[in-house]
Amino acid sequence: QPQHRDKPIVYALDPLQPSAQALAEKHFRLRIRANADDNEWQAHAEGILVRGSYVTARDLEGATRLRFIAKHGVGVDKIDAHTAKRLGIRVMNTPGVNAIAVAELALALTMSVARKISTIDRKIRSGEEGITKSIGLDGLTLHGRTIGILGGGNIGLAVGQMFHRCFGSSVLLYDPYITPTAKALWISSIPSEKISFVDDLERELYPRADIISLHIPLLPSTRGLIGARQLRMMKPTAILINTARGGIVDETDLLHALRDGTIYGAGLDAFEIEPPTLEVYSGFAECDNVVMTPHIGAGNADTQVACNLAMVQHLVDALVH
Ligand code: NAD
Repeated sequence: QPQHRDKPIVYALDPLQPSAQALAEKHFRLRIRANADDNEWQAHAEGILVRGSYVTARDLEGATRLRFIAKHGVGVDKIDAHTAKRLGIRVMNTPGVNAIAVAELALALTMSVARKISTIDRKIRSGEEGITKSIGLDGLTLHGRTIGILGGGNIGLAVGQMFHRCFGSSVLLYDPYITPTAKALWISSIPSEKISFVDDLERELYPRADIISLHIPLLPSTRGLIGARQLRMMKPTAILINTARGGIVDETDLLHALRDGTIYGAGLDAFEIEPPTLEVYSGFAECDNVVMTPHIGAGNADTQVACNLAMVQHLVDALVH
């Protein structure tokens, strides 16, 4: 066990789960930042633990002792990774830990949109008159439908496996940057006649998929990837699921597409402005064919604890071992 004075100085920029905090305190001189304006960490921290905080280029340039950033979860779009790389600061996230939880939410959103579950539930609760079983008549069956997946990493793979197992779905996967390891996992878990690796979204995926599920990062190249033109290429019975990041889909265009029946519906866990308030998203809220959740994909309790612990463990491995 290292002496106290030998322990690396680590700042948590966001609060930690109790078990993750205990692990961090065992190995580090841990300080927890009081608020977002507290910049004391820049002078001292050798490692930082980040959950939802922004880490800008200016923060990094001022952080003279910083060597490692450990990030809870997958998305690192709030961290200036480019500057970190230039300064030799390594950014570590916790891939895979939350994949099942996010994939399950993608499935739940799809089912809820397909059968209008949350809309119908809301109507019953509000005492709407004339509720009979005919309210569900325009719902869709998912069995045998084709899913188009953008991004074949941890979450995309879990979604593909679930759709294949649950609904016998065929999968169209678009991921030009897929790693050989990930591709081998796809090939070993889905029979070859049920999976196609596609190169052309607009010709091979949008027009053919019944469900389109996004599992790619938000990058300059993926911002606005799906707009009016792409939505028009989709089937009128298509369901679009975004549990990745707001910004990948143009929200104004999506709203129009949902209103005029260009696509069947959408399940959204990711928004341009989060959390999604009624003030900003009243348009979606008026659409019966949308189900919204406020970025809860990885937000169930057991996944949160697992991600928080994995984040601390990465920093322990990097700074102590
Ligand atoms: P991952 O890194 O395992 O997989 C991402 C995949 O996207 C990789 O295979 C990569 O090659 C591919 N990719 C990158 N750019 C692409 C592009 N332009 N076109 C097609 N594919 C591209 O990440 P993951 O764990 O599967 O997470 C996917 C995304 O889900 C994350 O980036 C994050 O934005 C989001 N996410 C959301 C929640 C939530 O709570 N809703 C939780 C975790 C992650």
